[in-house]
Amino acid sequence: MTAHCPRCTSTQLIPRQLGRHIGATTGVVSGGTTGAMGALSGAKAGAAVGAVAGPVGVSIGTLAGALFGALVGGTAGGVAGARLGEELDTKVLDNIECRACGHTFRLPLAEYPSYPSR
Ligand SMILES: [Zn+2]
Repeated sequence: MTAHCPRCTSTQLIPRQLGRHIGATTGVVSGGTTGAMGALSGAKAGAAVGAVAGPVGVSIGTLAGALFGALVGGTAGGVAGARLGEELDTKVLDNIECRACGHTFRLPLAEYPSYPSR
């Protein structure tokens, strides 16, 4: 059973992953907001830890805490967004593109040409 393009019957089909890309991007942005808040509390925690080592420790601790908080928030948001986008891809959007004629259409998941990185 090979899926083919409904317009030109080519079997050169690729998953579009449009929602996945959009989801990952918006996820990183909203995750970045969460990350910014994480950075704030991370900075405070870092400063408290660094305070033991004096003024230099405070700035290093603040920086490390902020970086860590932002990183964790951004990554978590990106992953969640990509998952959401993947749902969109498989259930709502045209998820397949024909490489021969450029036609885009939807295929049920069972007939999907292999979906990478799942
Ligand atoms: Zn086609």
